[in-house]
Amino acid sequence: MDREKTQTGLDTFVVLVAVLISLATILLSQGYRDVATNPAEDAGQVARLTLAIAGQPTQRTNQVHLSGRDSEALQLAGWLDEVRGRLAEAVPDARLSLFSDHPNFAQMSEETDEFRLRALKAIRSGEVASVGESIIIDGVPSIRLAVPLRAFSECDGCMDQGVVSFSHGDIIGLREVQVPIGDEDRTARNQLMYSGLLLGVTLFCVVLIIYPVLRRRDVEKRELNKRARSLEMAAFTDSLTGLNNRRFFEKSLTGYLEEFNRSGNSLGLLVIDIDHFKKVNDTFGHDAGDMVLQKIAGRLQQVSREYDVLARVGGEEFAIIAPYSTEDDIEQIADRYRRSVEEMSISIGSAIIRPTISVGVATNADGQRFVHDLLKTADARLYEAKHGGRNRIAA
Ligand code: GH3
Ligand code: MG
Ligand code: MG
Repeated sequence: MDREKTQTGLDTFVVLVAVLISLATILLSQGYRDVATNPAEDAGQVARLTLAIAGQPTQRTNQVHLSGRDSEALQLAGWLDEVRGRLAEAVPDARLSLFSDHPNFAQMSEETDEFRLRALKAIRSGEVASVGESIIIDGVPSIRLAVPLRAFSECDGCMDQGVVSFSHGDIIGLREVQVPIGDEDRTARNQLMYSGLLLGVTLFCVVLIIYPVLRRRDVEKRELNKRARSLEMAAFTDSLTGLNNRRFFEKSLTGYLEEFNRSGNSLGLLVIDIDHFKKVNDTFGHDAGDMVLQKIAGRLQQVSREYDVLARVGGEEFAIIAPYSTEDDIEQIADRYRRSVEEMSISIGSAIIRPTISVGVATNADGQRFVHDLLKTADARLYEAKHGGRNRIAA
């Protein structure tokens, strides 16, 4: 009962672990897929799109009348305002800004930073058309993308003011867009991490808990099997001689007879009794008698054919099932056993005894289709053999 409970518990546990592994695997693969879609790349796309929508700054028609040092800066600020208005709806996450290192544009320019200086330098050198990077802005992973900001007018008084002069189309700074990379990235990474963790814990459980349990169960099972086998052996084995016992013999004879009757094959039965065995006991003692029994059993075993079933069925009685033996050859078989014992000489101390056996024979060929009949006939023949003078067979 307790064992069954443990078993059910274990099975449930195994199923649970299997479910956890599957779940972790699904999450893991999903996590990989999400990471593979790469939200950073998506953010870059949005940044490029934003810059494309914004386009190059153009002159504000309503501010054409403005002139002088602030004119272009004001116009750029106006352009930026207007474009931001348009972008707010199309790409709400993207933030467009302008940067210029020219003193004329200080009022509309974002502050200088390392990225802007680097990007401007690279773009001015003509090496690249744009510069992008991913950074953390206020704790949010973002993409920054910068492209050239070109002047759409001339700097009229630059020379007079002692600042760098520029004319239409010159790179005066950067148009820059910042796009947050989006939370899916972190979610995906978290998912990946947690599912990995889950998988790890699960495998850990498998290795640490299930495996030893399964191993122990396996060992227990093997031990039980071993015990069952040895019990089975013991139940069918005669402990003194190591031969099959009466129980095994009766079971076998029943099975054999049924099978041989059905298939129409002949089956022989020998019943063997040691002659004057009581004398051995009386003369040399019970232990010597046991030893003689063992020796004779060993000899019978030696001469038995591969498919003969030999058993000790009583005190000094043996029986043999001889499959495929017709009435003609059963006598020869019986005589072979008889002679093999007759040839023995067993030393007991200084004495030597020469045992003999009497054998009664029966086969199913003479119409004896039941175990009972077969045994009865063989026993009757054994009786005949004894009365006929012993050390002989009666068939
Ligand atoms: P017979 O030729 O008529 O068979 O004479 P027998 O003396 O062999 O027959 P009987 O039935 O008179 O005696 C059988 C003896 O076998 C009696 C019994 O003590 C002995 N015996 C039976 N089982 C064992 C055993 O396990 N060990 C020993 N030592 N003797 C046994
Ligand atoms: Mg007897
Ligand atoms: Mg006897």
